[in-house]
Amino acid sequence: MNILGIGCHPDDLEIGCGGTLAKYAKQGHKVFMCHVANGDLGHKIFMPEELAKIRAKESEAAAKVLGAESICVDVGDSQVESSVKATRDKLVNVVRDTKADLIITHNPDDYMRDHMQTSELAYDASFCNTLPHLFTEAAETDTFAPLFYMDTLAGVGFIPTEYVDITDEIEQKLEALACHESQIKWMLEHDHIDFLDFVRTCSKYRGLQSSCEYAEGFRQYAGWPRFRTYRLLP
Ligand SMILES: [Zn+2]
Repeated sequence: MNILGIGCHPDDLEIGCGGTLAKYAKQGHKVFMCHVANGDLGHKIFMPEELAKIRAKESEAAAKVLGAESICVDVGDSQVESSVKATRDKLVNVVRDTKADLIITHNPDDYMRDHMQTSELAYDASFCNTLPHLFTEAAETDTFAPLFYMDTLAGVGFIPTEYVDITDEIEQKLEALACHESQIKWMLEHDHIDFLDFVRTCSKYRGLQSSCEYAEGFRQYAGWPRFRTYRLLP
């Protein structure tokens, strides 16, 4: 399958489903990691233009660790809006270009607006990719890809219905997350938040719920025609 993760910021997919993406890649699936916002506002020292470039490079390094390909839609932080046609069409093009068979994105209800708008954009794109008169660079495809929502940050308000055992991928997930040095280092040195420990803890907690050491939790979007008769998560 072609697996497409659509996250908001450059490190969100690593946090929410990095282990699952690595597992898909190991099983021979083609994995794409698309981030919509370029992360240009998330630092106190680097200016936006420089920061966006740094974060794009960090994303490429992280995707490589997970065995995936990085795609940047390059919308500015706090400007992710599903009502903007240009952004919607860019996402449609990503779904078409990657020929996505399965999409993972943010939960519709998460802790910040850009994440929630990204979820809506992913949902829209996973339907509109089939519309023949919606013209983008890549031609339309005929798959209504099953859509999965990944965990919220710290798992707040999110009850998974499916789990993926990432015990064998946890170190790879954290290694990918560590590639986002501009965020991880900054938060540790200046805010005293060890984000690697934060994410390990969340994965361990989901593992406790699903009888393994480390896990990631998901919910599937339940609209027509997204279900299959077999398990889609690895
Ligand atoms: Zn984010």
